[in-house]
Amino acid sequence: MTKSMCITYVVEDKLYVNITNKCSNRCEFCIRNNGDGAYGSDSLWLEREPTREEILDSVLSCDLNAFPELVFCGYGEPTYRLDDAAFVARAVKERYPNIKIRINTNGQSDLILGRRTAPDYEGAFDIVSISLNTPSAERYQQICHSVYGEAAFDAMLRFAGDVKNFVTTVSLSAVKETLTAEEIERCRIICSDLGVNLRLRDYIPPEA
Ligand code: SF4
Repeated sequence: MTKSMCITYVVEDKLYVNITNKCSNRCEFCIRNNGDGAYGSDSLWLEREPTREEILDSVLSCDLNAFPELVFCGYGEPTYRLDDAAFVARAVKERYPNIKIRINTNGQSDLILGRRTAPDYEGAFDIVSISLNTPSAERYQQICHSVYGEAAFDAMLRFAGDVKNFVTTVSLSAVKETLTAEEIERCRIICSDLGVNLRLRDYIPPEA
C-alpha cells in the first residue's frame, strides 16, 4: 500500500476532501478494495491525518471558483473528524458562500462520537449523503461489516431522520447493481418514510 498526503482531489467538476482513513465499516464494495487512489488521484491512504489547518490550506489552494461543490469523502468515514470537517466547511463558506458543501457518510456519526451529532451539521454542510446500501439491517451487516453490528443500520436511519432538520438536502444512497427491484422499492419506502431523497448510484469498478 502506497501512502501520501493527498488531501484534495478532483472528481469530474467537484473537489473532494480526504481527511481520514478510519472507518467503522468494512464494505465489500468499498472503492478502497480496488486500489490506493480514485479517479486518477495520488494514493488516498494518508501518511497521517492532516490537521484542520492543513485541510483548509489544501482546499483554499485550489481555485474554488472552478468547483460548484466541495465533497468530504475520501478513503474513510469523515465523521470521525466531524468537528474538523465542519470547521473547514464553515471557513470555506465564509469565503465562498455560493459553493455547495457535501459530506458523504455511512451515517454512523452518533455511534462513532457517542452522542447526538445532527445539530453539528447545521451551517456547515448543505448536503448530507448517507450510504443506505440495502433496506435490511441484517443484509447491511453482511455486506458492510460495521464494528457496531446490526445496530449500525437503525442508528443510520435515526441519524438520517434527525439531520434532515439541520441541512437542506439529505440523501440515502445505494449501488443499484447490487439490489433487486424489490429491494430498491423497499429503499424508496424507507426514504419516503424518513422524508429524505433516495440516490441510486453506479458501482465503481476496479481501475484497470
Ligand atoms: S463506509 Fe465508505 S469508506 Fe467505509 S468501508 Fe464502507 S464504502 Fe468504504
